[in-house]
Amino acid sequence: MSEFTHTEFFEMDKQHFIHPYTDFSTFQDEGSQVISHSEGVYVTDTEGKPYLDGIAGLWCVNIGHGRREMAEAISNQVTTMEYYNPFGHSTNKPAAQLAAKLAELSPGNLNHVFYGCGGSVANDTAVRLAHYYFNMKGLHSKKKIISRCDGYHGSTYLAAALTGIQGTKYGFDAADNLVEYISAANMYRRPVGAEDLTEAQYCDFLIDEFENHILQLGPDNVAAFIAEPIMGAGGVLVAPAGYHKRMYDTCKKYDMLFIADEVVTAFGRLGAMVASEELYGYTPDMLCMAKGLTSGYIPLGATMLSDEIYQVISKPQCEGGLLSHGFTYSGHPVACAAALKNIEIMEQEKLCEHVQEVGPYFFEQAQKLADLPIVGDVRGSHFMVGIELVSNKAEKSRFPVTAGIGQRVFKHCQERGVIVRPVGDVIVLSPPLVMTRDQTDILFNALYESIAAVTQELG
Ligand code: PLP
Repeated sequence: MSEFTHTEFFEMDKQHFIHPYTDFSTFQDEGSQVISHSEGVYVTDTEGKPYLDGIAGLWCVNIGHGRREMAEAISNQVTTMEYYNPFGHSTNKPAAQLAAKLAELSPGNLNHVFYGCGGSVANDTAVRLAHYYFNMKGLHSKKKIISRCDGYHGSTYLAAALTGIQGTKYGFDAADNLVEYISAANMYRRPVGAEDLTEAQYCDFLIDEFENHILQLGPDNVAAFIAEPIMGAGGVLVAPAGYHKRMYDTCKKYDMLFIADEVVTAFGRLGAMVASEELYGYTPDMLCMAKGLTSGYIPLGATMLSDEIYQVISKPQCEGGLLSHGFTYSGHPVACAAALKNIEIMEQEKLCEHVQEVGPYFFEQAQKLADLPIVGDVRGSHFMVGIELVSNKAEKSRFPVTAGIGQRVFKHCQERGVIVRPVGDVIVLSPPLVMTRDQTDILFNALYESIAAVTQELG
C-alpha cells in the first residue's frame, strides 16, 4: 500500500469510503485525516505528525497501540489454523479456551458465551436470545425491550432501535415496535419536575418511572431491560448511586432479563474487568462485550449468558430443531487468539490496578477544566470522562448546533497534537489504559488551552 502518496490516500478515501457517522457536507470539503502508524498512546498521520490518542481509537485500544505480542499471537494463529466453521459440533482451540476464560472473568453464573463480530451484534444476539428464551418457556408475549433515551447500543437494524439517541434516528426506519424508551439517568440535565431532587430522590424518580412503564405495558409483555453501566456515546452519563442494582431488582420483580451492555466498560476502562458486579453490585442475566475484548486489534464481540438461560435455550425445542442463530465468524480462531493474548497482557501488566491508581488522577485533572467559563459539567469515572460545554453555566444553556463548539475544541486539540472526541458539545475522553500521569498532564494541558482558545474566539 505504501506506493501511494498522502494525497492519493486522501482522495481514494474521500471518493469511495463511506465513513460511519459522518457529516458528508463537511467531509466532501475536508476529507479525512489518514492515520498510518501507532505506538503506545500515540498515533501518527501520513504527514508524520504524532498525536496523543485521548480516545483509544474509539473506546477500544485498551492495552495501547502497536503491541508486538498481539501481532505474534495473530500471526501464529493464522499460520496454524486461520479459520474453520463453528457451526454444530465443530470448534477450534482459541474459541474454546477463550470461552472458559470469559466464564472465569464474568461474575456470577455467566458461564456461556455466544460470539459475534462487535458490540452491535453482541446486543442483537442478546435480544434474539432473550426472545428465544421466553418463547422456550412458553411466555410468548414477553417481547418488549426497555432501553433508555441517550443509550447507545450500536448500528445493526435492531441495535439501532435499542439506541435512544435522537440524533441517530433521522432518516432511518427502525424496529421501534420492539423497543420502549425511558429517561436517561442524567444527573446534569434532569427532566422537568426532577431538577431539584437530591441524588437519592432522583434515583427513586427513575426507578418509579421504570416500574410504572413496565406496569403500563404489562409485565407479561416485557422481556428485558438493556443498559450501559455508564452511558458512553450519549455523553458519558453517570447514574445516581444505587440505580443499577435497583433497576436489576425491578427486572427480577417482573421476570425480566437485565442485559448489561459493557461494550465500552468491560476490560478495564473503569478499573474492573467487568463493571456490573464489581462496581455496581448486580450480576446481569446477559453481558455484552466487544472493543476492549481484543483492544480493537481485530473485531470480536461476545454475549455472556447465565446458566439459567443456557439451560433453557439448550433444550431441543422440537424434533430436529436447532438454535438457529449464529455467524460464519462466531468464535473466529484468529480473533479469539487475539482476545486471549489481550487478556493475558491485561493480567500480566495489572492494567485494572493501573486504572484504579491513575484513573482518579485522570478524573481530578478533568475536573480542573470546570474553572473555564464554557465548561458546564465534568463527569465520568477513571478513564471514561465527558466534559459538557455550555454557553451559560448557570442556566446550562446549550450552544446553537451551528456554532460547532465541540468540533472547534477538537480542532484546537488536534493542532496541539492531542485527539479528543466531540459528541455534539460533550468532549469525550477514553484513553488507552496504559496512559501515565505525565501523558495525562499533556492531554489536559492541551485540552485546557483548546477550550480557553475557543472561549476567547467567542468573545
Ligand atoms: N454498545 C456500546 C455501549 C457502544 O459504545 C458501542 C459502540 O460504540 C456499541 C454497543 C456498538 O459496538 P460496534 O460499533 O462494535 O458494533
